[in-house]
Amino acid sequence: MARTCLSKGDSVAVTEPLVRSVDNGTSRRRPRSAFKTGTPARRHRNPFDDVLEQLDRAAAVLKPDPDALAPLRHPRRQAIVSIPVKMDDGHLRVFEGYRVLYDTSRGPGKGGIRYHQDVDLEEVKALAAWMAWKCAIVNIPFGGAKGGVAVDPLKLSEGELERLTRRYVSEIFELIGPAIDIPAPDVGTSPRVMAWVMDTFSMKRGYVEPGVVTGKPIALGGSSGRVEATGRGLLFITRETLRKVGATLEGSRVAVQGFGNVGSNAATLLHAVGAKVVAVSDVSGALHAPGGLDMPSVLSYYRENHHLQGYPDAALIDNDTLLRLPVDVLLPAAMDGQITASNAAEIQAKVVIEGANGPTTADADEILARHGVRVVPDILANAGGVVVSYFEWVQDRYGFFWAESDVNQRLEDSMVQAFDAVWAASVRHGVDLRTAAYTVAVERILEARRLRGLYA
Ligand code: NAD
Repeated sequence: MARTCLSKGDSVAVTEPLVRSVDNGTSRRRPRSAFKTGTPARRHRNPFDDVLEQLDRAAAVLKPDPDALAPLRHPRRQAIVSIPVKMDDGHLRVFEGYRVLYDTSRGPGKGGIRYHQDVDLEEVKALAAWMAWKCAIVNIPFGGAKGGVAVDPLKLSEGELERLTRRYVSEIFELIGPAIDIPAPDVGTSPRVMAWVMDTFSMKRGYVEPGVVTGKPIALGGSSGRVEATGRGLLFITRETLRKVGATLEGSRVAVQGFGNVGSNAATLLHAVGAKVVAVSDVSGALHAPGGLDMPSVLSYYRENHHLQGYPDAALIDNDTLLRLPVDVLLPAAMDGQITASNAAEIQAKVVIEGANGPTTADADEILARHGVRVVPDILANAGGVVVSYFEWVQDRYGFFWAESDVNQRLEDSMVQAFDAVWAASVRHGVDLRTAAYTVAVERILEARRLRGLYA
């Protein structure tokens, strides 16, 4: 594999795989404001700083040998690739892509591929670390990884998207595989994109390799229940959390930010079991109906129009107002950095269930705790997707596929066991659920590292 430093740019002619690999995690971190153009909330902070701060909090509780902990502060491998794409109008554009392998103590890397214009290496590093902790919490035999391309997929035609995906996979071909690092969908990618990932990898390998990627269409070795899995996992976690605080799903008021794979499935499943979904949102704005939204009707409007704005039977509010509604459950399921020091004090929900990765900044966490808002962290709450991805990988390797009822039951078992482990750690150590989740993850990863020892 060629390993060459890339300069950022837009007109690089690429003739061979170009990968920059930084294996000690000491690459310079820039403040997000220096390179982000997202919402104001997203510009505040580098999400990898949050990862390190959260790790420090867990370490303060566990007091592990600092030498044992040190490798967890650094990704094992970081790759930056350049992706030239012939656009429909004939000109060439070069996009920048990333793949980070964070930790492989417990198994091969696992983590999605994000297509978003704000993607950068720091974000992918944070997302990869969260995947490592997440897989440990739900006790599946994977480490953490993540990938992404800095592109707005909505601005590409289907042909451009396919060419971008195939070239990206071609550039990271040596870095992924069923026993190395297994991608999956994330923001801006879909089962359709995963099918191109599987096909490109298989064509280069010379034989069909469905286990290289999860979240595929069922016809290509995908798992029943995978599309809804993250939303379904959130349903179980919300149910368990409400139980602990003496409430039930039935009649609880819920606001969901984000109406993609995670948000739309979570809102629909919560509505189906009797929760009152009073608000949902996407980039076009938020719908609010204090008496509860008719989710099947919202869903069919969304499928027809591809956005929520204009839905007739609800008021249109903005996304920030949604976060501050008087509800029992707030479920951020859009992007990272949405609940910050500037809006945390106004959050009225009793519990926040993190559907998105990193929706709450570390300083917002402290404010929410002071106000008595219980936060169920992303690395536990949204792990349903990776659990069923694991089931998909198992089924692909076996060549034997399970009924959806089996998938859903095993998912429920995994999520409830993980919730119980985190809750028990929270009680045992007298810490919030996020710190508790980190202690569970870090203990399991450190145990695997201790048993394996240091290869030198
Ligand atoms: P998606 O691309 O399917 O949907 C994202 C949604 O968020 C869209 O509805 C978009 O309109 C909306 N959105 C984007 N910016 C917004 C903003 N500023 N305000 C309000 N809405 C906004 O993505 P997804 O797969 O649903 O992922 C959402 C989050 O969940 C991400 O943080 C992702 O990392 C995380 N996650 C996804 C999975 C999965 O299985 N897909 C699993 C675990 C975690």
